[in-house]
Amino acid sequence: MKTNDATVLEEPKTDKRATEETIEPAIESRPRPTTGVREAKIYIDGKFYSETEAKVSVFDHGLLYGDGIFEGIRFYNGRVFRLEEHLERLWDSARSICLKIPMTRQGMTEALIETIRQNHLHDGYIRLLVTRGVGNLGLNPEQCKNPSVIIIAATIALYHEDFYRKGLSIVTVATRRSNPASLNPAVKSLNYLNNVMARIEANLARADEALMLNDAGNVAECTADNVFIIKDSQIFTPPITAGALRGITRSVVFDIASEFDLEVTEADFTRHDIFVADECFLTGTAAEIVPVVKVDGRLIGNGKPGPITTRIIARFREITRKTGTPIFD
Ligand code: PMP
Repeated sequence: MKTNDATVLEEPKTDKRATEETIEPAIESRPRPTTGVREAKIYIDGKFYSETEAKVSVFDHGLLYGDGIFEGIRFYNGRVFRLEEHLERLWDSARSICLKIPMTRQGMTEALIETIRQNHLHDGYIRLLVTRGVGNLGLNPEQCKNPSVIIIAATIALYHEDFYRKGLSIVTVATRRSNPASLNPAVKSLNYLNNVMARIEANLARADEALMLNDAGNVAECTADNVFIIKDSQIFTPPITAGALRGITRSVVFDIASEFDLEVTEADFTRHDIFVADECFLTGTAAEIVPVVKVDGRLIGNGKPGPITTRIIARFREITRKTGTPIFD
């Protein structure tokens, strides 16, 4: 596991597979009510607060109704990775739910970079939220006059390195990805209960992640990651219309594949296609690119991370360490 001066993460106590005893969680599920940064500074609406002082109102509709949006962003080696794309998606999410972000994109970039600087980090993870703001107990967003911007910089607990070497075991869950006509998965909203329910099912099945299908029975995505399969050197991933988030890491895989002269096809596919795939992997800002070697008890390919996946992971690591918006001039 990576560490740096500001890191207070503990080494994972075990690297046992989920099917045996324990699950090593990624950032989303690690039970740590802290950023992992000593004397952390959390940005709320233009001011910085310590972890204990950083609080929001119980009347914020982000809390009362999950009314708000967010981004999870990584920075590597003193550079924020794919910042423009994350801000683009944040602004798209805001537009879709009629939320006015109370600052310019330039202002947001500066606030985000200043938050990383204040926390003296070179590598880590940013959680950026825009909540609807304080209103009354009714759900009408017109009550909320001032949306809030919150930026939390954290050290990040990855999946244990073993997971990248050995791969994950995932299960298909009964909870379907929400229908775009009710809550569009393309909006990265603060309402993640659909994903949380799926995650609970994966936990109960002692699996590493949950594979979520859409109402048509096609693969949508995992609870916090996009899904890819490889068959006969062709790469497939579900289209956004299947209920997948337009993942930033997903788009980096498109770039890497084209560098490698491999074709990525956005196509609907089913569990069957994963069962018979040669390789499978997940992508997400927190998890990065992680191989999947088992789905619903069936081994994928020979049950080991495949050669194309391994090459893509290696290239991804090079790209993340060399590119991005500089934090320290
Ligand atoms: N799907 C869901 C539901 C997510 O929350 C995320 C973000 N963790 C992803 C996919 C991956 O998107 P990205 O690569 O932009 O992090």
